[in-house]
This record gives sequence, structure tokens and C-alpha cells, in this order.
Amino acid sequence: MFKVARSFPPPASLAARRSYTGDDVLEALNRDFLGKCYICETQEPLSLNVEHFVAHEGDEELTYSWNNLFLSCARCNNFKRHHYNNLLDCTDDRVDVLRAIEHIAPASPGAKVRVIARLPDESTRSTAELICRIFNEDNTGNKRVTSAYMKKRLFSEYATFIRYVNAYIDQNTIKEDRDRAVLHIRHMMRDAQQYSAFLRWVALNDPTIYALVEDVIPMAGA
Ligand SMILES: [Zn+2]
Repeated sequence: MFKVARSFPPPASLAARRSYTGDDVLEALNRDFLGKCYICETQEPLSLNVEHFVAHEGDEELTYSWNNLFLSCARCNNFKRHHYNNLLDCTDDRVDVLRAIEHIAPASPGAKVRVIARLPDESTRSTAELICRIFNEDNTGNKRVTSAYMKKRLFSEYATFIRYVNAYIDQNTIKEDRDRAVLHIRHMMRDAQQYSAFLRWVALNDPTIYALVEDVIPMAGA
């Protein structure tokens, strides 16, 4: 997960309480969530949903409340539905969503993705379980986006990152290429990066990489 700064005031069309998927809502969500699903961090997924963080179940306030609208992909929306109503809130400043959940990318496209709750509370545990299921399980709801598709996409991003790490540590790399590798490594730490939590956790677990990016990843507790 990554931190989202929600913009205010709320999109105007929500005031009429007729639709929560108006163009202005979609534009604002896309901008605030940097075009990524807030759960899996897939960028420009095949299908985007306006998701209710707390399932509205007919409640008008929850249906049209700007604070309750999140950007998710159809796959995550399908897994979450009303089953996960107690997730970590990535729009809440008080929650360190990055450090709460360790994300470990697969070492090969077919291997399992590991997602580990690093805090004992129920929201963290439940969010980690959902993310783990999204990457590793197949459901019948959406046949286009399978676990294999997700892991392949994630692995590709991870492999690119590791290639730059290797260029940085390789004794045979000339100075110019090593400097460029550092720029790439830092670039891939930005909020808008696809699957940022997976890449940032490589840095959090490795002091050598962490020293290169310390100033460009969110600070602990923030
Ligand atoms: Zn998703």
C-alpha cells in the first residue's frame, strides 16, 4: 500500500447524491490515487472501480461520502466486496501503511507472493490477508486478471528494479552506469511507482539500498 493525499473539496457531483461515478469523481480519484489501485497498486488496470472503503449496503451517507470512495481495480474490488470492512486506511495520515505490511515479491513469476502483517492489530492483519489472496488466489469473478497475470506483472517490475541494484553493486560497472543505476533505483521509490510497497520493502530490508533511498521513501510513522 502507499499513502494517498486526498484532495478537497469533494467533487461537486457528489452533492446531488445521484451518482458516485461522475467524471469529476473519477478524475479526482485518478489524480489522488496516482492512477493506481489502492490495494494491489496495479497501474492503469484493465478495469477501474470506484470502491466504497466501508461497504455502503444501501446507506446513503456511505454511498456518496467522498472520504469513503477509493480507487481500486476490479479484481481487488471482487475479492474485497463486503468481506473486508476493516482495512488499513491509506488516506489516514496517522497510519504508516508502508511499514505495517511487509511485501515480498516472487523470486520467479510462478512463485508465491508473501505478504506479512508487521503490526498485531486486526486492520493490519486483515489487509495483509486480503493482499496476499489477491496476488496468490484465483477467484471465479474475473477470469481476465488471474493470479498468474498479477504475479507476472509484479515480477517484471521487481526484476527491473533488481537489475539496477545489480548494476550498482557489480564491480564491473563503470562509474557513469553506476550513477545512472542509482537514479533508476531512486526513481522506482516514488509514490507513483507501480507496486511501490514491494520495491520499497527491498530497500527496508537491505541497509545498502536503504542508504541510497532513505530521503525518498516515506519516513517511519508518517
Ligand atoms: Zn487491485
